[in-house]
Amino acid sequence: MSDYQAPVEDMDFVLQHVVDIDELQGYDDFAHVDPTEVAGILEEAGRFFSEVVAPTNRIGDTQGSRRNADGSVTTPDGIPDAYAKLVEAGWGAISFDPEYGGGGFPTVIGLAIQEMLTSANMGFSLCPLLTQGAVHLLESHASEDQKNTWVPKMVSGEWTGTMNLTEPQAGSDVGALTTKAVRNDDGTYAITGQKIFITWGEHDVAENIVHLVLARTPDAPPGTKGISVFIVPKFLLNADGSIGERNSLECVSLEHKLGIHASPTAVMSFDGATGYLIGEEQTGMRSMFTMMNSARLSVGLEGLAVAERSYQQAVQYAHERTQGGRPDYPKGEPAPIVEHPDVRRMLLTMKAYIEAMRGLCYLNAKAMDDAHHAPDAETRAAGQELAEVLTPLSKAWCTDLGNELTSLGVQVHGGMGFIEETGAAQHYRDIRIAAIYEGTNGIQAIDLIGRKLPMRDGAAVGDLLDDTQALAEALTGDLASLTKPLVEGVTACRESSGWLLTNMGDAALAGATPYLRLLATVVAGGLMAKGAAAAQAELADGADGDRAEFLQQKLVTARFFIEQLVPAQIGLMPSIMSGNDILANYHPVV
Ligand SMILES: Cc1cc2nc3c(=O)[nH]c(=O)nc-3n(C[C@H](O)[C@H](O)[C@H](O)COP(=O)(O)OP(=O)(O)OC[C@H]3O[C@@H](n4cnc5c(N)ncnc54)[C@H](O)[C@@H]3O)c2cc1C
Repeated sequence: MSDYQAPVEDMDFVLQHVVDIDELQGYDDFAHVDPTEVAGILEEAGRFFSEVVAPTNRIGDTQGSRRNADGSVTTPDGIPDAYAKLVEAGWGAISFDPEYGGGGFPTVIGLAIQEMLTSANMGFSLCPLLTQGAVHLLESHASEDQKNTWVPKMVSGEWTGTMNLTEPQAGSDVGALTTKAVRNDDGTYAITGQKIFITWGEHDVAENIVHLVLARTPDAPPGTKGISVFIVPKFLLNADGSIGERNSLECVSLEHKLGIHASPTAVMSFDGATGYLIGEEQTGMRSMFTMMNSARLSVGLEGLAVAERSYQQAVQYAHERTQGGRPDYPKGEPAPIVEHPDVRRMLLTMKAYIEAMRGLCYLNAKAMDDAHHAPDAETRAAGQELAEVLTPLSKAWCTDLGNELTSLGVQVHGGMGFIEETGAAQHYRDIRIAAIYEGTNGIQAIDLIGRKLPMRDGAAVGDLLDDTQALAEALTGDLASLTKPLVEGVTACRESSGWLLTNMGDAALAGATPYLRLLATVVAGGLMAKGAAAAQAELADGADGDRAEFLQQKLVTARFFIEQLVPAQIGLMPSIMSGNDILANYHPVV
């Protein structure tokens, strides 16, 4: 099995040439970030994640987290130690607010580091990921006192965070939740109910767990309007902030799952547990929405990160495994399977999609940085709008592709891919959940057509397509032939967008998922074109040696993506614009 090597040169290339991180240096909050030093930071982080975290991936899968009879949870060997080292190194805190002990780096650089963490061990990465989501919610909505009490230790990683939304009857429909919150005389709340599927809900890697719990006060209206959000810690705090009594909540069981075995997925029972209201009663959903964009992007990133690890392993195997002859090999001598065109197609499909996903996810993060840190209101508003449009694309497209590409990773291994000891199957199993949690991909597609496409009557998506078309039309020289297929993709998106806007309701809902796929592929195609143009320019400036080979490969992946992968998605147009009739006439029989 191969070790994970962080693809630092690829990451830095996207940061410098596709999302233009040098623009961030002009923002007061990021004046300290020198773009020329980013590659060095990524190198250092890459060493940490490949040496300290990646070796825990296999044992995390085979051993898994276990619940003990007293309700405590023991994580797999090596995980507590890797977590302690992560806290000590501070990589998890790099893009948090310096006011609470964070590094103050842009979200987009934090995301690149998160990609490494996730490739190294997805199950493990969920612990810092959930903590990050909880910190974002607290920073935006908690009182100053609450922030000072809880956030610094979560930023440092000494305490971890969870998000408790799901109940057996309340999954995609969060508004159906019934967990109760009754106000106590001292202003705290008594929280009672059961939550299921709570990621890292109980564990042994940190001294406290800060659960953020959605619950309903007795007089709350039904549905999402009546939801409030509470801080419900595993341990209450003493007056001096030190760890106090155990709160009345427990992990009653852990789920047995298809993948991410290192991540304890807990059924949590709250029995009159002490909770602290965040913001006002019945504003819980608004609070959740602020952290949802970053959490959804982080989950989208999982598709990219696990596909990257699967790809690295597949490439190595394809060089080692010999099978069958090749015309350019001596008769009777088997060739490494990497020489066979069909195997190369699988590997290049993985590589091209991975690069395209990286462009899309990093652009999404850069848009969030613009939205929160740009000095002028116009750039902030444009960043916010772009982030909102891109988020469902990052989440759903990248996690669907994570599933497809890790499946290709198994295929490259042939029968050995199906055998657990190679580790190829673990990536395939681990990533399966990413299309389901944090809003299923079906819900993402509904969000795209129901909330994002109608923004400014379609102009938010229209502007993004204008940008993509401009990137296509700017291609010159050897790349000029890519303009046509990419513009055809843009035209297909415009036509589909127009049709959906005029056919809202079930007709549009029926085409939501294929529309998301088409739009994401075309927008990512524009980013591949932008990267290819930058590679072409650097080659023309005389890049040589390994760098020239790296840049030539960027031209290969961009050409493959735009000439072969984009046109295939244009074939989705009939699925997008056929309406609901055929689906309505289908009668699945029980
Ligand atoms: C390993 C794991 C970790 C998790 N971690 C957490 C966590 O930390 N915190 C937490 O709160 N939850 C967590 N979840 C829960 C997760 O977010 C939910 O499973 C998810 O939101 C889907 O809900 P559901 O399972 O009830 O599926 P359902 O809502 O029952 O969906 C079933 C299917 O129906 C579709 N569907 C549902 N409603 C609609 C609709 N209106 N229109 C179209 N299609 C629809 C869905 O897309 C899906 O395909 C986790 C789940 C798992 C398995």
